[in-house]
Amino acid sequence: MSYEGYEVALCEVGHKRFADCYSGLNAWCDCGAKWAWTCDIDQTNGCYHEAEEGRMRMNGVCHEGPWGEKTPAEYDVCNLNHLHLRTEATYHVPDWGRAR
Ligand SMILES: [Zn+2]
Ligand SMILES: [Zn+2]
Ligand SMILES: [Zn+2]
Repeated sequence: MSYEGYEVALCEVGHKRFADCYSGLNAWCDCGAKWAWTCDIDQTNGCYHEAEEGRMRMNGVCHEGPWGEKTPAEYDVCNLNHLHLRTEATYHVPDWGRAR
């Protein structure tokens, strides 16, 4: 009965978020934007997307690319020489698939 899966989503701004299949995604991205694109990943069968024609099966790991980076991540270096994320990267929303 175990279902190993998770979901990856891009919001309208282009933030990438992951959720496991038990907790699921929040209704909105933490930046307040709506989800623009989601991918349901079932680790045995591949992933699924919503499309005009209905649920669409994709083979492979579309969530790992090729997603164009829209804006790169920016970091600050603190006095201990750590890199601290200041602005996270955003990604172009693919023109196929969509949010549920
Ligand atoms: Zn966002
Ligand atoms: Zn996918
Ligand atoms: Zn630091």
